[in-house]
Amino acid sequence: MLTGLKSLVRKATSALLSSQEQTYPIIIPRDKHNLSRQDLSTNALKVLYRLNKAGYEAYLVGGCIRDHLIGIEPKDFDVVTKATPEEVQALFSNSRLIGRRFRLVHVTFGREIIEVSTFRANTTQEEAPEIEQKSLKDKDSARSSHGIILRDNVYGNIEEDAERRDFTFNALYYNVEDFSIHDYCGGLADIKNKQIRIIGDPRQRYQEDPVRMLRAIRFAGKLGFDIEANTVAPIKEMAQLLDHIPPARLFEEVLKLLGSGNGTKTFALLREYGLFRYLFPDTDALLQSGWKRQDIDPEAFILRGLKNTDERIQGGKSTAPYFLYAILLWPSVALRHEEFMAQGMPVTPALHQAANMVLDNQVASTAIPRRFSTPMREIWDMQLRLPKRYGKRAFQLLEHPRFRAAFDFLLIREQSGTELEGLGAWWEAFQFGTESQQRDLIKQIDKRTSNNEGPKKRRPRRRRKSNGPQHESSSD
Ligand code: ATP
Ligand code: MG
Repeated sequence: MLTGLKSLVRKATSALLSSQEQTYPIIIPRDKHNLSRQDLSTNALKVLYRLNKAGYEAYLVGGCIRDHLIGIEPKDFDVVTKATPEEVQALFSNSRLIGRRFRLVHVTFGREIIEVSTFRANTTQEEAPEIEQKSLKDKDSARSSHGIILRDNVYGNIEEDAERRDFTFNALYYNVEDFSIHDYCGGLADIKNKQIRIIGDPRQRYQEDPVRMLRAIRFAGKLGFDIEANTVAPIKEMAQLLDHIPPARLFEEVLKLLGSGNGTKTFALLREYGLFRYLFPDTDALLQSGWKRQDIDPEAFILRGLKNTDERIQGGKSTAPYFLYAILLWPSVALRHEEFMAQGMPVTPALHQAANMVLDNQVASTAIPRRFSTPMREIWDMQLRLPKRYGKRAFQLLEHPRFRAAFDFLLIREQSGTELEGLGAWWEAFQFGTESQQRDLIKQIDKRTSNNEGPKKRRPRRRRKSNGPQHESSSD
């Protein structure tokens, strides 16, 4: 009897709750949430106060609110307001207008930039038929620095602004006037249930902007949340839309996906949902093929590299985008290297040729700025040079600007099963040894490997081999 009554009360309460949840916004007063003003950027608060004082509605929005509620330190603070960009700019001397067709304001405080955007109305595919899938590549300029499509300066109200955001937990607004949070799409409940839920119809939203599929995966990797069933359902089938995204934008997304401290988890999710192949087609094909060599296991190597990057970031150390990219493309370089050598090319030119080929293929998917591709090539190149330590070479290599990265890369190769006869340990000892220890280390090498490593004995042998046509044909 009592249980019956209890369940009746429970049903009535949940009916009441769900009917309440239908009416948006849900406004959560200060004493009902754990977001304190102390947690927020003082510069972002300054921007809010000044906008409010001038009579404009203004809120903190997006990732900064989401992350704080989850207990993660946010990366940046974004403000959204009723004021037009020109009105915002007039209020802040330390601000500048960004963009031509679409306009945002960056308010700068030393190294911190607060991005202020104006409430915008959503332009759906039907209203804006010019965003055909194929033309997405060309429409890239019409985006905020966060990637929101901003084709035109169609300003709207806060409800419209909320609807055009990607996930419910990104449509939470913080009002500094009374410290309340305004939830327009049920994001708070989704945070509670650890769910990533897209706002509106998933297919339509992915069609509008396929990068949202990557963002869903990124948040799953970062927050450990599940992607809600409807949100996840079309991803595999719509993944190919990523082919139409400009490589420069995908490059930025890759860095956020794999270089933010949750790379290992995110890599697994990207593969699971068939998205990885649109980011790294060669690497994906190679992983799918199961290609392995005695000295390289591509999957083990990439996983080890991602783990290393994750650990560095979690330990507060810096990581370089070129290192991450060098890891992700190395198995393909190794494969091509072997192919070019099989065609008779000498070791070093074959590696350079392999690097060229892999980089050329890769930039069709994700751009790689030259300031990153140059050090990537150096890291790869150093893998051939690090074993050659005789004479003065070890000292010269130690001075190389890319030595440290190349050494870390070498360790990852070893840790993932590549047998290099203690090369990593040797370099470890050499780097940190005294001069006399270093000389001893070199002596050991010369003694141990002078027969197969010393240049003088090796070169004539190689020359004889390649110059002897009779010998070559007889081996056929
Ligand atoms: P983080 O900063 O941790 O990467 P974020 O959610 O803040 O996560 P940003 O790229 O900084 O992501 O974007 C800020 C806000 O802009 C998001 O919270 C979301 O509301 C909106 N947004 C970003 N990208 C998109 C998109 N592709 N489609 C719709 N809304 C988007
Ligand atoms: Mg952000």
